[in-house]
Amino acid sequence: MDLNLENVSLQEKAEMERNVFLTTLEQVKAWARSNSLWPMTFGLACCAIEMMGVGSSHYDLDRFGSFFRTSPRHSDVMIVSGTVTKKMAPVLRRLYDQMPEPKYVIAMGSCATAGGPYIKSYAVVKGVDQIVPVDVYIPGCPPNPAALIYGINKLQEKIRYEAKTGKRVTSR
Ligand code: SF4
Repeated sequence: MDLNLENVSLQEKAEMERNVFLTTLEQVKAWARSNSLWPMTFGLACCAIEMMGVGSSHYDLDRFGSFFRTSPRHSDVMIVSGTVTKKMAPVLRRLYDQMPEPKYVIAMGSCATAGGPYIKSYAVVKGVDQIVPVDVYIPGCPPNPAALIYGINKLQEKIRYEAKTGKRVTSR
């Protein structure tokens, strides 16, 4: 049914602009999804201490709708916080595979991003993107809790942008 706006007064038009908005189901889903990102409780090294900080009352990650979960099957975000050793890599991949779709990965800190101070070590993976696809990289050694919150905000923006434009945003 077409909406006839010819007989609408200026005041009514102004009211409609203030009170009516149009969107798509995909955008509503993305809005809900981006405001309820549940990271998996999972830390690999010193960056994990900073990750724990975001759950404290001072940083209060809960205000963004994010709650750490104890099972990959409840989680839609993996925050890789720490050094990924070659011994741990298959376990990390298995946990990622157990997460339901859609799922996202945040590489927190220089170790998860590119091997960090251990880049020349025979035992360390030079970037977790060699094992799982990464959506957001957070630089630093370690990044502080505020940086992690910024990274989570960027992931929220990315989810909403992809729903709005239909374009896939890649990190490369
Ligand atoms: S980036 Fe630095 S703080 Fe984070 S796990 Fe590596 S060495 Fe530790």
